[in-house]
Amino acid sequence: MKAIGQCQTCLNEGVSAGIIPQKGHYPGDLVEGVSAEINDSFLAYFTCSKGHKSIGFLNKHRFEILLESGLLAYLSGFPGEAVLSFAASLERLYELFIRVVLHKRGISLENVDTTWKQLAKQSHQGYIPTRQLPCCVLLFLRSL
Ligand SMILES: [Zn+2]
Repeated sequence: MKAIGQCQTCLNEGVSAGIIPQKGHYPGDLVEGVSAEINDSFLAYFTCSKGHKSIGFLNKHRFEILLESGLLAYLSGFPGEAVLSFAASLERLYELFIRVVLHKRGISLENVDTTWKQLAKQSHQGYIPTRQLPCCVLLFLRSL
């Protein structure tokens, strides 16, 4: 997925030169639009035509992006890819729910992250044969 943004350095130069107002709206063509691929950390590293480098951050939850991706895939005529994106979106929504509930119950974010990473690692390695084990581990974390 690509992100589209504006070069912050070019924007600041335009403001300093008086081409772009410091406050309020300005025509979008006063600053060059740049695009970059969004990585797994939701970061996009932009480089404008003048060579200025900047970083953009996509401020959305993973489930939202996957849901939008599924919708775009469906509308583009790729129903199989859409189903995969919807399923992944639902899994990320479950993950968010679990993280929020554990944190609300007083579990530190560090403990949630550490436990979650261990479960994810075991899951990728095929060590988790059932869905009950992750739930058991998370409930154990809750009982601490
Ligand atoms: Zn620039």
